[in-house]
Amino acid sequence: MKVAIMGAGLSGLACAIRLEQLGVSPDIFEKRGSIGDRFVNGEVLLTVFSRPVRDEISYLADKYQIYLHPTANIGEFVIYSEHEQAKLSGHMGFCNIRGRHENSFESQLARQVKSSTIHFNSEHTYEDLVKEYTHVIMATGDAEYAANMKNFEIELTVTLKGATVEGDFSRYRVMCWLDDRYAPKGYGYLIPYSKTEANIVIAFPDELHPVPGSTDEKWKMFFERVSTDLGQNLKVTDRFEVNNYIIGQCKEPRIGNTLFTGNCLGTIMPLFGFGQFPSLLSGIYAAEELCGLGTYTELTKKLRESHQNSLVLRKWYEKMDNSQKDKLVKKMNGFWGERLLTTQLDVLKIVTRLLHWGVK
Ligand SMILES: Cc1cc2nc3c(=O)[nH]c(=O)nc-3n(C[C@H](O)[C@H](O)[C@H](O)COP(=O)(O)OP(=O)(O)OC[C@H]3O[C@@H](n4cnc5c(N)ncnc54)[C@H](O)[C@@H]3O)c2cc1C
Repeated sequence: MKVAIMGAGLSGLACAIRLEQLGVSPDIFEKRGSIGDRFVNGEVLLTVFSRPVRDEISYLADKYQIYLHPTANIGEFVIYSEHEQAKLSGHMGFCNIRGRHENSFESQLARQVKSSTIHFNSEHTYEDLVKEYTHVIMATGDAEYAANMKNFEIELTVTLKGATVEGDFSRYRVMCWLDDRYAPKGYGYLIPYSKTEANIVIAFPDELHPVPGSTDEKWKMFFERVSTDLGQNLKVTDRFEVNNYIIGQCKEPRIGNTLFTGNCLGTIMPLFGFGQFPSLLSGIYAAEELCGLGTYTELTKKLRESHQNSLVLRKWYEKMDNSQKDKLVKKMNGFWGERLLTTQLDVLKIVTRLLHWGVK
């Protein structure tokens, strides 16, 4: 068996590590010059979206010997709407770094790849690889190839605009803003990298509900709101913008000897864009299928179901205006919000069922 992995990101590297554990050394083709060679940003693993898994980091370590070190545990989550706020505490997940940073998740994974070769600055196309290898893992982090093959349903595209800021932060506190004026049908967030550095981002769907004002104007409004809520003059040290970030799902997880992993499979959840944990799992599952430990379609079934549940929730969320968001945030403040984010139940599944019945 000769395996090519296209893309050395989360799902591609997780796949390589699992393949090595099972006795196969793949060739990894990465179009960039080094691991994570893009902007640095903060991301989170929110355990409420990973059920039934309660702790993603220990699950990956204990079950697959894949070791990831987050920057902090999330002990506090603050949600703001236009006029309300909810402060929740308890263990809710983890913060981590992505991109061009020695401790980014992709850098940590790359250090665990032992016998496989990573070919950087790769210009190999899928068509080249599929001729030369018995199996190709499509792990490019976008849906372009899957869409060209007519194997991808695009649900929405998103604009993300963010910055690294210097200030005074709690390492354990993540903040989130739900306000249509600067993140229409989307959200804004702050994820700390450390006590002095954080990432602030707005993310909103492109075409569904255009509201007046350019992305720059929305960003300016968001920046002012964050500065006011923190009571600080934040200093911007880096910026990024991602346009047309595709969210959707593959029709077939595997076609012939090509397996789609990570965002190419559709691991990114439509509601709030969480995709790290399912991406890692999809890479692991692809390796397991190639080594006879299961069928990829079956192994990824739960991930695909979660995606569909998240889509139902997104459609519900899109109908809310700012006053409804105020009501929601007010209700979440304290006990019920904490229960929601820390319960062991599969909240995504339960709420989706309730909404489904409500719709009927
Ligand atoms: C700004 C932002 C914030 C996010 N925040 C969160 C969050 O807080 N929590 C969360 O769970 N998820 C978050 N996500 C989603 C999460 O990052 C993705 O779901 C996850 O990284 C997808 O993993 P992947 O393996 O599919 O792709 P990636 O990890 O992106 O890796 C893809 C790799 O393929 C390479 N590549 C691309 N094209 C080619 C090619 N033609 N040939 C070879 N290599 C190629 C790329 O250079 C890259 O190295 C966020 C995404 C963005 C953009």
